[in-house]
Amino acid sequence: MNIYHDDVFQMACDQFEVIADYLTIDKNDRDRLMYPKRSVAVTLPVHMDDGSTQTFQGYRVQHHLTLGPTKGGTRFAPSLSMGETAALAMWMSWKCALANLPYGGAKGGIACDPTKLSRRELEAVSRRYMQEMIPFVGPHTDIMGPDMGTNEQVMAWFMDTYSMYTGYTVNEIVTGKPVTVGGTEGRREATGRGVVYLIDRAMSMLKMNPEKSTAIIQGFGNVGAVAALALAMKSGVKITGISDAYVAIFEPKGIDVQAAEQHVMKKGNLRGFMEQAHIAPGEMLVQKCDILAPCAVDRVITDKNADKLQCRIIAEGANGPTTPEADLILNQRWDEVFVIPDILCNAGGVIVSYFEWVQGLQAFLWTETEVADKLYRIMEHSFAQVIKRAKQDKVSHRTAAMAIGVERVMKAKKTRGLFP
Ligand code: NAD
Repeated sequence: MNIYHDDVFQMACDQFEVIADYLTIDKNDRDRLMYPKRSVAVTLPVHMDDGSTQTFQGYRVQHHLTLGPTKGGTRFAPSLSMGETAALAMWMSWKCALANLPYGGAKGGIACDPTKLSRRELEAVSRRYMQEMIPFVGPHTDIMGPDMGTNEQVMAWFMDTYSMYTGYTVNEIVTGKPVTVGGTEGRREATGRGVVYLIDRAMSMLKMNPEKSTAIIQGFGNVGAVAALALAMKSGVKITGISDAYVAIFEPKGIDVQAAEQHVMKKGNLRGFMEQAHIAPGEMLVQKCDILAPCAVDRVITDKNADKLQCRIIAEGANGPTTPEADLILNQRWDEVFVIPDILCNAGGVIVSYFEWVQGLQAFLWTETEVADKLYRIMEHSFAQVIKRAKQDKVSHRTAAMAIGVERVMKAKKTRGLFP
């Protein structure tokens, strides 16, 4: 399967093989579960502001269609490849199944740097991508959402483009839309809030006092900034480290996260904020803290730093932040470091996306309190199941979480049978 050749896809496959061995999945069933069902690559020619035409590469991977339509975010990042997209789609499958959502996993995106595009160029790239995807997606086939480098506005352009071609408004084709065009209350904050809900649960299990705890958060975007604000303002945790793609800041006395948010709203990133406290990004991760929340990119906790981490809880807001080699080290340190694995920790986004899709299909609106309440109920249930399974089988939280997800997909495939 050379089209998926990529280090991140290999990592997702390696993780799957660990689970397949633990669940003693028959060799005949492994590839069927692991490889994506459908993948599409599209070429997107776009008029740029300087009069040139630039060609971008876009992808969409639908991992499995066994439990319902596929669901997954759209990433705009310079290095995006088909393999990385496939890995993210596979993780989405296990995440949706763990939360018991009627979806298979998907992921898509464009290899581009959205920070280097003007607003007009970003709109043109986004609309051209959705237009190319029309034959492959649909509210009952594959529903898109946001991910790194995309936001509510991009989702609104996707929805508008799809609707223009259909001839009527199709809200339910994307989630993560602005509330003014059918988005659900609380979707933007859902992933970060879910991360913090589980950090609070873990702190309470471990009998930690939030007001005496500190947190370092990598990534200050949709997930990281919301998590930092909620941890500081609601849970009372002191935030001692934050970072983005440009700078990392570490201040043991605490960081004013609201001021950091204001700075990013004005300047676009953390450059120029608390310059006296800047630190090398890699160094920030290994500073002493109670909670370490990687909320940016994949593969930042590796065999090079896993034994140096000085935190009690790792809350994986990002997808794939820990490599399988680092997992082996963290598994040895299970009584020192409590890991909340990505497919559990950041599931808040897809859970509230599911609510948005249901509301779109039914043309029915829920309040933010209803959304938050339903979100926490699902997260609580998933957390309890993972903790129970890990204890019962003496396996890591990641193995327990993935096993529950993989098992659900496998059971559904077995029950449906193999066509024809
Ligand atoms: P975003 O684009 O809103 O923010 C990403 C942040 O990470 C930015 O602050 C960016 O500057 C920073 N960043 C990028 N590269 C970095 C690097 N090398 N080191 C440190 N910081 C870096 O993206 P997001 O939506 O917050 O997504 C972050 C992560 O969470 C991704 O792994 C994504 O797949 C995952 N996730 C997002 C959602 C969601 O609902 N948005 C849901 C589940 C998982």
